[in-house]
Amino acid sequence: MADPLFDKIALVGIGLIGSSLARVIRRKNLARRISISTRRAGTLERARELELGDAYSIDPAEAVADADLVVVSVPVGSSGEVAESIAPALKPGAIVTDVGSTKRSVIAQMEPVLPKNVHFIPGHPLAGTEKSGPDAGFADLFENRWCIFTPLPDTDPAALEKLSEFWRRCGSNVDTMDPAHHDMVLAIVSHLPHIIAYNIVGTADDLQTVTKSEVIKYSASGFRDFTRLAASDPTMWRDVCLHNKDAILEMLARFSEDLASLQRAIRWGDGEKLFDLFTRTRAIRRSIIEAGQEIDAPDFGRHGADPADGDKG
Ligand code: NAP
Repeated sequence: MADPLFDKIALVGIGLIGSSLARVIRRKNLARRISISTRRAGTLERARELELGDAYSIDPAEAVADADLVVVSVPVGSSGEVAESIAPALKPGAIVTDVGSTKRSVIAQMEPVLPKNVHFIPGHPLAGTEKSGPDAGFADLFENRWCIFTPLPDTDPAALEKLSEFWRRCGSNVDTMDPAHHDMVLAIVSHLPHIIAYNIVGTADDLQTVTKSEVIKYSASGFRDFTRLAASDPTMWRDVCLHNKDAILEMLARFSEDLASLQRAIRWGDGEKLFDLFTRTRAIRRSIIEAGQEIDAPDFGRHGADPADGDKG
């Protein structure tokens, strides 16, 4: 096995993403030591029971001391608070990164409070499931998924390459993007689908004329696939909506216009228009399967912690 890339990695936040990182770091020997910090004592205790790290602290400053790589994996709305608490304890030259699903807001919260003598490189692994907490993680989560960096203009290329190598060894492909572009792309590929799912499941839940037991009993006809997205962590997704507001509102406006056009086609019996759209969208799914981001199984390949789940966030 290759030599560890880092002496000490500190993981701040040990939910789905943080605990998956802890597991893959161990499996691939990416660090000599892993230190873990999280907000609640109960979560920290669970991480200890799962033996996810070598040292545990409720104090993030204590956890990041001497770390060569710090990965912040908390809901995006808590990024600034975490950055403030770790800033005085960071080792000069350390790489500090995050995994947050929105990038402009995370940069605005973290960059001003982090010391200038560390390398802050915002990141976002496009991998996840609807589960959360330290038990939900698994070492294969990042396998064949993308990790996008949104480096700042003065980012040290050597530090970016080292972080890229870390994510490659975690199994991911890496890419870089401008933060605003990232937020726009993610608004359509991730944030809007989740909002639509939350909305449709909410609508079904509110219906008076169809009972809840019917919704559940007949869910395999399509509804079930929305419920997977709509079961995602409420804190995480509240924060995503609040912290990528502009891009999400832009995509929602386009979505509403297209939905109105679809509504018109149904009302006026425009079968040709419906058929053309459904043919175009079918081809997109084929491209996703060809790109290795989904498997062609009748149940969408989703069996519990199957890596094929990893399409979220
Ligand atoms: P998660 O399973 O809910 O875990 C969140 C972790 O953050 C928990 O350990 C929680 O600790 C901790 N935390 C919450 N507030 C905190 C605070 N103020 N200070 C310190 N720790 C705090 O969430 P996740 O799915 O791992 O998501 C983490 C980040 O990854 C989010 O920014 C999300 O946008 C991003 N992301 C998620 C996915 C996905 O599909 N889930 C995919 C890609 C990226 P306690 O239990 O101790 O409160």
